[in-house]
Parts: sequence; structure tokens; C-alpha cells
Amino acid sequence: MTRTPPLPDAVPASGDRRRHPAPAHLVFFHGPMDCGKSTLALQVDHNQSRQGRYGLLLTQGDRSGTPQISSRVGLQRAAVELDPGTDVRLLVRDRWATGHRVDYLIVDEAQFLSGEQVEQLAELVDESHVDVYAFGLTTDFRTRLFPGTQRLFELADDVQRVQVEVLCWCGLPGLLNARVVGGAMVREGATVVVADTAPAVAEPAPTEDAVRYQVLCRRHYTRGQLGPMPTGPGQLALR
Ligand SMILES: [Zn+2]
Repeated sequence: MTRTPPLPDAVPASGDRRRHPAPAHLVFFHGPMDCGKSTLALQVDHNQSRQGRYGLLLTQGDRSGTPQISSRVGLQRAAVELDPGTDVRLLVRDRWATGHRVDYLIVDEAQFLSGEQVEQLAELVDESHVDVYAFGLTTDFRTRLFPGTQRLFELADDVQRVQVEVLCWCGLPGLLNARVVGGAMVREGATVVVADTAPAVAEPAPTEDAVRYQVLCRRHYTRGQLGPMPTGPGQLALR
């Protein structure tokens, strides 16, 4: 007489997702200067915290010069300042060790992250199920991807261009950040601190004139034309 084996009372292990109930994500929002990235970062933080989740805000060289994420529309929140040597995994583990919850990270000025730091963020997502929302500039004044931006393009689960709110003087969407020294556009020099940000020290400039950045459409970037009102609204002077 044969015995019928008992029916399994659960789905086999291959279908078991219970150990990872909520896969986390690495999401990258990018755009030119002045496109509203920091405002969006604070909005995402607000939406997440309203759901009872705990976030940690990170930034580098915020325009206010103090560790916070601030936007041009006047919102601001305290943030932890990163430097190129910060291990983001240790930063989060230190929080956990002192009894703080960290469900998600908001990373502003993400273009300044090193490739290694982006990899650390990806590890936090995959191994610790921390959601990461990163915000940064797409390209520098030479139209090249920032290193942090490039690594985020390579590793992020989701990459979104921020709805462009900033226009070139001609009225077309502004996509590229031009560096202007002494009233003229320059295309060479250190990548440094383009930022959105600021108490940036520009590399030796040909004159004493302030370095500023202006968002242009691709055509006017290529032509090097800054328009009839180079000091008009929507342009940023770095102090
Ligand atoms: Zn234009």
C-alpha cells in the first residue's frame, strides 16, 4: 500500500519573498542648475516622513554654507555634510547603533559623490533595504557628466530628469550649465564646484571678476551666446 506524501503547507523556498518584504530602491533625479532639485528633495522627504518613515538628509557644499538642504524657494532642513572620504554605510550604521531609525536617505548635490560612495549607497539599498533618493546636476560646464552623476546613471534603479523649470534666454528649455568669467563663457578649467551651490572657490580666474553660471539651451551653449541680458533673472552669481 502506498502512502500519499503530505502536501506542502507552504510555497517552496524559491518563491519566498518574506525575508525581503519591501525591496528598496536607488532613485536618481537630475537636471541643470535651478531646475528645482533641492525643492524636490525636500518634498520627497516630506512625503516619506508623513508616512511615518525616518530619513537622513545628506548634502555636500550646500549653497547656504551650513549642513542643510536649502532651496531657492525658501525651504530648508538640517542635513549631514558629506566629504569625499565619508563612508555612507558607516554613517548609517552609526545612526542605527545609537538607536535612530533610518528608512531612507535623501542625498542632495549627488553629483559630488565619488563612484565609491554611489556604490556604498547601492549596498545600503540591497543589503539593508534603505531607500535612497539622490538629487544632482547632470553635467558640468564642459557638458560632461559629473563623476557621481555618471555612477548613479550606471547603478540606479530609476533615473529621472527633473522637469525643467529653467529656460535659456531664448525661451527654449535650459539644459546645460555655462561657466562665465568676466562676462565671457569659458569651456576649460577644473570641474570643481559648479554647483548649484556655493561658497565655492573658483579656480584661478583670468580676471578678478566673479565666476557665475548660466543655464543655456544646447544651441546657445555651442555658440557661446549668453544673450542680450547676461545679468538677468534666473542666473546665479557665486559669491
Ligand atoms: Zn537658447
